[in-house]
Amino acid sequence: MNEPHTPAAAPVDFIRTIVEKDAASGKHGGRVATRFPPEPNGYLHIGHAKSICLNFGVAREFGGTCNLRFDDTNPAKEDVEYVDAIKEDVEWLGFRWDALFYASDYFEPLYQFAVALITSGRAYVDSLTGDEIRQHRGTLTEPGTNSPYRDRSVEENLDLFARMRAGEFPDGVHVLRAKIDMASPNFNMRDPALYRIRHATHHRTGDTWCIYPMYDFAHPLSDALERITHSLCTLEFEDHRPLYDWLVTNLAVSPDGGRPQQIEFARLNLNYTVMSKRKLLQLVQQNVVSGWDDPRMPTITGLRRRGYTPESIRDFCSRIGVAKKENVIDMAQLEHAIREDLNARARRVMAVLRPLKVVITNYPEGQTEEVDVINNPEDASAGTRKVPFSRVLYIERDDFREDPPKKFFRLSPGKEVRLRCAYFLTCTGVVKDDRGEVAELRCTYDPATRGGDSPDGRRVKATLHWVSAAHAIGAEVRLYDRLFSVDDPEKAADGKTFLDNINPNSLEVLTTCQVEPSLASAAPGARFQFERLGYFCVDPDAKPGALVFNRTVSLRDAWTKLEKRNAETPR
Ligand code: ATP
Ligand code: MG
Repeated sequence: MNEPHTPAAAPVDFIRTIVEKDAASGKHGGRVATRFPPEPNGYLHIGHAKSICLNFGVAREFGGTCNLRFDDTNPAKEDVEYVDAIKEDVEWLGFRWDALFYASDYFEPLYQFAVALITSGRAYVDSLTGDEIRQHRGTLTEPGTNSPYRDRSVEENLDLFARMRAGEFPDGVHVLRAKIDMASPNFNMRDPALYRIRHATHHRTGDTWCIYPMYDFAHPLSDALERITHSLCTLEFEDHRPLYDWLVTNLAVSPDGGRPQQIEFARLNLNYTVMSKRKLLQLVQQNVVSGWDDPRMPTITGLRRRGYTPESIRDFCSRIGVAKKENVIDMAQLEHAIREDLNARARRVMAVLRPLKVVITNYPEGQTEEVDVINNPEDASAGTRKVPFSRVLYIERDDFREDPPKKFFRLSPGKEVRLRCAYFLTCTGVVKDDRGEVAELRCTYDPATRGGDSPDGRRVKATLHWVSAAHAIGAEVRLYDRLFSVDDPEKAADGKTFLDNINPNSLEVLTTCQVEPSLASAAPGARFQFERLGYFCVDPDAKPGALVFNRTVSLRDAWTKLEKRNAETPR
């Protein structure tokens, strides 16, 4: 008896179960080979991350290989900028491809496979117009009708196909079609197009070709050429599987006779965003966002700039799992993953986003002391740091109310609070500006409470973060919210599009923030928890002396809370 195959990790989804069974039974010679096949027509998004984690993950767990293959068969929309960005994103996510390929590398062998299909009577050149082809296709209830060109001789087909390649015909005059079955209940089997004429310059092959293979032709044969064993794709390709199988069965692509097997899984859908590259491109082109890497975009590069870690994205993908049924994942789940990761890792710092000046009238003028602050209560090895404290501080404007509502425990006239790791502070007066707005607070501190505890056991109900005005550094902070104000942006009223569902308040820029001096040298990409506020990272726009932070995520899920409150409040 054969030893049972033991993979590195237990199968946790239906795909891993299939792969494990195949590896154990010796199907595909016991090999496991997958690929991630993006079309370089845009930047990768979080949906692609699911596919990347699956393809590279399965290969890794079963000791197999995973290729990165650019599905670059559509010259009109593709660009080398996207190729470079996709490579960077896959690597940033923590994966290394075993081999890098381009479907365009296979244009010559693919052409020869098409010739082989013609020669065996399985493909023909059709000269109907696009409209006529559509008219011949039939409907869901009626079979299609054969093209009058379907019975051209092999010689005539070979001659026409060679002349298509040679550039003798303009776009659309002929197409090469598989000769399968115009009465098939599956439209994809009603003589699907395999090649079309397109006089366009390709980002890699230039003007070498003026005929390009269709995705449904190129994809299975590219898989077979690379000896892929499990071709994992999303559910919309389920109906294409018969054609996939027809091609890899009728063409001896792999020298060893092996055939790749297509397996479909449910794509990732996330609420409050759109994920098709075409729509994301519209957001970029219409300047709804600042670019593909705008921190509000669901792209990998946008999430990276927002402060997401590769670990959090991989963790998210593993939590949502892989199944066969479509569903919608709550954005809160993605946010949960980054909160968990940063909670464990991010250094805590104090930053005041909307500063309110506090003068401690009983603190000696000109004096500065340093208080010890814990860097990360979740990680003792992160140690402590010194933060300067002096007579004039900034606190968060939200942390003060002149007329506090019930249960407002933060600062108000006469009330005592704790300044984090420093002293107890009592508000003794307010200074107002010409418009009657609170401009400054007068406070006293209790020197006996240094470190934040009172020796007489006096209790306070709130602890505020603060910075010393003389030592703090000015910074810009960008607060992000959902890019769309509705959970399903694609669902738009008549005459409207997803662009009408944009959240007008998805970006708020605060330019008068004050952060503690330890952040002076923070480099772009560095991540922190701003105490009591959330997780923030340094944006690439930051320059020495001009810090810029992005809010990655707030500490708690303010959005869900707000929505709940709105739902409960009668209007
Ligand atoms: P888009 O419509 O966003 O352009 P696509 O499917 O056309 O998506 P490709 O570049 O062709 O994008 O996709 C590369 C791989 O990523 C494919 O195998 C595809 O099935 C997978 N993929 C794309 N979107 C998702 C998603 N939302 N969830 C899971 N996998 C996805
Ligand atoms: Mg596509």
